[in-house]
Amino acid sequence: MRSIIERLLQDEYDRFSVNHPRSARAHQAALARLPLGVGSSIQAFDPFPVTITRADGPFVWDTDSHRYLDLNMGFGALLVGHRHPRVMRALEEQLELGTLFVAPSLQAEKAASMLAERFGHPLWRFTSSGTESVMTAVRLARAYTRRRLLVKVEGGYHGHADPVLVSGKPSPATWGPASRPNAVADSAGVPDSVLHDTVVVPFNDPDALERAFLRHEGEVAAFLVEPVMENAGIILPSDGYLAKVRALCDRFGVLLIFDEVKTGLTASWSGASGLYGVTPDIVCLAKSIGGGVPVGAFGGREDVMRSIGVSVAHHGTYNANPLVLAAVIATLESTTPEALAITHRINEEFASSVRTLLDTVQDLVPTTVSTIGSKGSVTFSATPPVTYRDWKNSDLLAAELFWLFSTNRGVLTPPGLDEQWLISTAHTFGALDVYLNQLEELVGVLRRS
Ligand code: PMP
Repeated sequence: MRSIIERLLQDEYDRFSVNHPRSARAHQAALARLPLGVGSSIQAFDPFPVTITRADGPFVWDTDSHRYLDLNMGFGALLVGHRHPRVMRALEEQLELGTLFVAPSLQAEKAASMLAERFGHPLWRFTSSGTESVMTAVRLARAYTRRRLLVKVEGGYHGHADPVLVSGKPSPATWGPASRPNAVADSAGVPDSVLHDTVVVPFNDPDALERAFLRHEGEVAAFLVEPVMENAGIILPSDGYLAKVRALCDRFGVLLIFDEVKTGLTASWSGASGLYGVTPDIVCLAKSIGGGVPVGAFGGREDVMRSIGVSVAHHGTYNANPLVLAAVIATLESTTPEALAITHRINEEFASSVRTLLDTVQDLVPTTVSTIGSKGSVTFSATPPVTYRDWKNSDLLAAELFWLFSTNRGVLTPPGLDEQWLISTAHTFGALDVYLNQLEELVGVLRRS
């Protein structure tokens, strides 16, 4: 099967290059000015990425005038779709009033109150990205507990700040024992001290977490975890895992930080925290709260959050600027429980159609489909992944074929293979047909091969 997949993939890369001449030229020009020809390394792939010129609702258009169904949706940021009318109106109104005051605005308290209602935390601060939310939460936890160590999950990505660029995508050559993984730097330039200050554990393994807490008793400031892992497809928490994590953190005086940058409102109205009924000490948000603008937020326990400004630094020229907060408020107003329930229903029906089609080639290409709230993902293995290593050991070549085949037929799913699809409030059943039709075509090709 592998050689068939390799051949089909080569055909698809040829077709991609032929059909995207303007993107190819745009990429050549960009290479002269931007490393990898892109503004963020996550946007790069070989032979060149598609250059997008505009977006609307569930669609984007590229510079070669192809229209795509967007299932990537800004890595899940665009829960309300591109150019949601309410978000657009709020932005336009705020443009008239000014974009940056670097002074308090009325929007900050309103947006914080709306997040407090959903997540139960009384105090909030805003940032410009998920990276900044997590980076500040980790600093806050270290300051509050006066402890040094951060425990994180292998395969968990938490942004591109030095303290968390550890074991995000380790390879078998360096990752060490499964139950006690090595701490591996994700980038050159991350100081060795970061590795010494970080302990890595597998996801879904409360015993390994307990052992780590025992080994470093009195030294661990925080356990940083995505309640659902969403940088390795979708890895759901096993039954009771998050509750056990909560209890262990309480027992060892460790702060629990939920990184809900990916889950957030895409998991439920009150995030994965609300869905699983487990309240962290600090929650980090970004992406889905902003309707497509660069924003993040973190909220937490009163006693923890009150350290900010007293002993803990949190600055930022753009934090809580009225322009992005206008979009946040409009997004929060638009993502009602009713609106989200519709996305969840469409997502479940879409996932079940995807499963039905993939089941026809299970003997050739084993797959599992996982969903959470408005998101879904295919893992190319016979059983659902429980840890990062399960995902890493899945058939990533088959994943690449399914991604490129859909790109060539008018659907953008994320290039990273580690991401998931998002059904936004702008996606309709009808719009999703283009994905299902090309999937039917591909499974037909595989069956005949
Ligand atoms: N945390 C998680 C779980 C993420 O997936 C990401 C980005 N994909 C981040 C943090 C960083 O967010 P940003 O890209 O907005 O800095």
